[in-house]
Amino acid sequence: MSNLRSEIEKRRTFAIISHPDAGKTTLTEKFLLYGGAINLAGSVKGKATARHAVSDWMEIEKQRGISVTSSVLQFNYGGYCINILDTPGHQDFSEDTYRTLMAADSAVMVIDASKGVEAQTRKLFKVCVMRHIPIFTFINKMDRDANDTFDLLEDIENELGIETCPVNWPIGSGKQFKGVYDRETRKVMTFSDTLKGTKEGTEKEIDIDDLALEEEIGKEFKEKLLEDIELLDGAGAEFDIEKVSKGELSPVFFGSALTNFGVETFLQHFLNMTYSPLARNSDKGLIDPFNEDFSAFVFKIQANMNKNHRDRIAFMRICSGKFNAGMEVTHIQGGNKKVKLSQPQQMMADERKIVEEAYAGDIIGIFDPGIYSIGDTLTTAKDKFSFEGIPTFAPEHFARCSLVDSMKRKQFVKGVTQIAQEGAIQIFQEYKGGMEEIIVGVVGVLQFDVLKFRLKNEYNVDIRLETLPYEYIRWIGNPKEVNMDTLSGTSDMKKVKDMKDRPLLLFVNEWSIGMTLDRNEGLVLEEFSKN
Ligand code: GDP
Repeated sequence: MSNLRSEIEKRRTFAIISHPDAGKTTLTEKFLLYGGAINLAGSVKGKATARHAVSDWMEIEKQRGISVTSSVLQFNYGGYCINILDTPGHQDFSEDTYRTLMAADSAVMVIDASKGVEAQTRKLFKVCVMRHIPIFTFINKMDRDANDTFDLLEDIENELGIETCPVNWPIGSGKQFKGVYDRETRKVMTFSDTLKGTKEGTEKEIDIDDLALEEEIGKEFKEKLLEDIELLDGAGAEFDIEKVSKGELSPVFFGSALTNFGVETFLQHFLNMTYSPLARNSDKGLIDPFNEDFSAFVFKIQANMNKNHRDRIAFMRICSGKFNAGMEVTHIQGGNKKVKLSQPQQMMADERKIVEEAYAGDIIGIFDPGIYSIGDTLTTAKDKFSFEGIPTFAPEHFARCSLVDSMKRKQFVKGVTQIAQEGAIQIFQEYKGGMEEIIVGVVGVLQFDVLKFRLKNEYNVDIRLETLPYEYIRWIGNPKEVNMDTLSGTSDMKKVKDMKDRPLLLFVNEWSIGMTLDRNEGLVLEEFSKN
């Protein structure tokens, strides 16, 4: 087998999604622990620990104790090369998360056993469904009192509209958590609280028919387990790998990330049930990952990660072939210009390191002199193509943003343009206005704070933000046929234009949208801008 093929075949690239506090960080730490990437769990993204290696613009993260940026971690385990795309759990950073999911081949959904499906999970999940990627569920915190297991599964099925298939089954929870039963091997793995985050802790495995089981977990729990298994075998969905790979059926696992119980089993099953990077869609059809030609798309841009260097990094997901440091590729959206991919970086736990080579499935960060945009394709293929675009989500909150010191106009324009290009905010102008005053649209309100903070910190510009009541945005779908000057809508509607000079309307409610459509025959309104 060629080196290229074997390298790509061992790649697994997935995102972890969850509602804040469900245990995503803890689970990630434990994964890394198995891979030997870190020696002590707790050193990754420790909320209270200093992390000088990464940026200091993340000061805002420290202040708020939340994670703003998605990072990528790579480690090896059991012959696999695993890329974890960590996504910020805070709902306000959902745009970034959505884009991160575009770069993943599958998703792990972490659910708190005492809470079930929470708001954030629901939202992120929609994106996974849109992409038809496999979704694995890890029901965490079984060492705390949990909801009824059947209820938890029903909750996932009803809330998310996906079938579930438990791979293992919990016995008790909280102080009475006895372990999990593996449905395939028919063995019970008993829980011991002494494992406490170490990899070495021994887990005892007992066959379901072994008389010693009753002694280990108690008569009552054994009877309940047998009852549950009977119910499950009779009523639950059958395991079907085809359905899993299409994202229609989610294999479910139970465990406790904190005490390190059920994590390694989960990782092993997960690796067995997922595939290496699959072909990606482009305007010229599917692009085979094993193709010799390198190709990648940009899914995230981040500026000023390191204030001393004023850098801007474009994160890209490699979709085919092999990457070599310094290689020359064609930048499709840059007018087919040839560019050199310099200063390639990869994130390893908390550090950034320079990569010499990378393969389909990997994520690399490339120094960006300001030429890339989200969704751009880069390739060495002679027959040029571009990957399917990344959806832009419609902002739901708007604010008028003005300068405190009008002398700083130049820096202001530079700053907001940069931050908008990263995709954190969208900027608009008054329909007949210029850049003195802009309207900022965001998906999550916390982005307003990020904007203010970054403009001050990176561009030395103070701004005033005044919240506007609009919640709905609609681009004019047929601008050539519509006269914006005479277009009549409701009195609380606003006419604006985006940075590409496309006209659009802001509304305070859906009723006004309907009203405006009624009043202007032939008007086409679209929720998303066409790139
Ligand atoms: P994230 O916001 O999803 O990344 O969640 P964290 O991994 O930071 O976990 C949130 C809190 O839950 C932390 O205090 C963890 O120590 C705790 N936690 C995580 N996993 C478990 C678990 O399996 N059992 C218990 N009891 N607590 C857990």
